Amino acid sequence: MKNRIAVVGAGIIGSAVAFELTRCGADSVDVLDPDLEGELSSTERNAGGVRHLWIHPVNAELSRRSIEYFEKVREEIGFHQNGYLWLYSQQSSALGEKALVLAQKRGLPYEALEGKAITARYPFLDKIDDVAFGVHGRKDGILNSNALKLHYQNGAKKRGARFQDRTLVKGIAESGATVQLMVSHPPTGEAARESLKSPSHWAGSELLTYDQVVICAGAWSSEILKSLSLAGITKPVRRQIATFQAENLDLTPYGMIVDTSGVYFHAEGGNCLAGIVLKNEPEGYRFHLDNDFFETHIWPPLFERSSKMERLRPLTGWGGLYSYSPDITGILGPVPGTKRVYEAHSFTGHGVMHSLGAAAVISETILFGAPKTPEMAQLSRDRFVSGRLLDERLHI
Ligand SMILES: Cc1cc2nc3c(=O)[nH]c(=O)nc-3n(C[C@H](O)[C@H](O)[C@H](O)COP(=O)(O)OP(=O)(O)OC[C@H]3O[C@@H](n4cnc5c(N)ncnc54)[C@H](O)[C@@H]3O)c2cc1C
Repeated sequence: MKNRIAVVGAGIIGSAVAFELTRCGADSVDVLDPDLEGELSSTERNAGGVRHLWIHPVNAELSRRSIEYFEKVREEIGFHQNGYLWLYSQQSSALGEKALVLAQKRGLPYEALEGKAITARYPFLDKIDDVAFGVHGRKDGILNSNALKLHYQNGAKKRGARFQDRTLVKGIAESGATVQLMVSHPPTGEAARESLKSPSHWAGSELLTYDQVVICAGAWSSEILKSLSLAGITKPVRRQIATFQAENLDLTPYGMIVDTSGVYFHAEGGNCLAGIVLKNEPEGYRFHLDNDFFETHIWPPLFERSSKMERLRPLTGWGGLYSYSPDITGILGPVPGTKRVYEAHSFTGHGVMHSLGAAAVISETILFGAPKTPEMAQLSRDRFVSGRLLDERLHI
């Protein structure tokens, strides 16, 4: 008898989990999603930044394990390891110093850059009097998250995984030695996306039976886990991105840059992409771009940072969801109170760079009973009951 595993959600995490489960020998894996194109998924709407810099060691380990793999397939996934520069003001310098010391203790190639050293490497950063210092990681960079998702999906398919479109999971229940999923089938992609905008209207009548299930539905995971009477501890919050043209400035050689203001930016298909985490954003499934996002939040700090960014032309933009856990770290492990249900979600702004590491942890837990690196068991939901939180404060 085959052990039948369902992965709920085909974003970068669900796809990576299918990739790792089949790589580790799982014999039957179905990935279920109402919209395999993933138009509203965070995987389609992120900035593609990849770094090793973290406060908490489990997050550093998730990045290390993922990036080690990204380096092996760099061409296919568009991984450009051309650096990550984080600028700190006097006010935020304590966090920067802490992150730098931790990174260096972990043996990672990070260095502090000050004043002229910043401008020597990034000549367009010519207005930096208010910058205390920068932290630079030369093995970090950006990648194409859609190409990475497809890489995982193709690898999983070659080893027998099936990806089922137009399948929305509304609820989940354990019954004896099996798990039952209550599903519905939105008739079109548009209907699927409408459902994803209003989870409170989800309905489902068909039952699918599996031996084990992994919930990887990103910001929608709590909606599915409600059926197991689990409190919704994670929150969906919109984050926006704008793209723009900067005449006479080519950011292609520079990787990701995070300004003291919190604006992050990098080259994007011949233009530039930028985003910022706005603190007053309400919770909810919201995906639009505010009309004034670029003019109010992106352009002014860039104007103040570089004479090459005084004249910018806004192009387009979008909103996508961060899924916030209470300690800003992913939730990864067995679902308490069940024997056959697992979860991997709530990676806020880190799911791309953590995808392979997270998938390895959950696959090892399902197939071998525990993660190979025992510390990674701390990522399970139990931590919110025990109070042993994995607080992460970098770029939340
Ligand atoms: C603006 C922005 C910038 C970001 N920048 C970065 C960055 O630079 N670096 C980085 O590492 N991360 C970044 N992130 C975070 C990253 O995009 C996410 O952490 C990651 O994509 C989460 O992947 P996921 O597979 O968990 O969720 P998703 O990609 O959202 O996928 C979830 C999937 O589940 C499906 N689903 C939903 N409900 C159901 C259901 N009921 N039944 C079945 N399937 C369902 C959805 O259709 C979707 O395909 C950013 C995110 C945003 C929004």
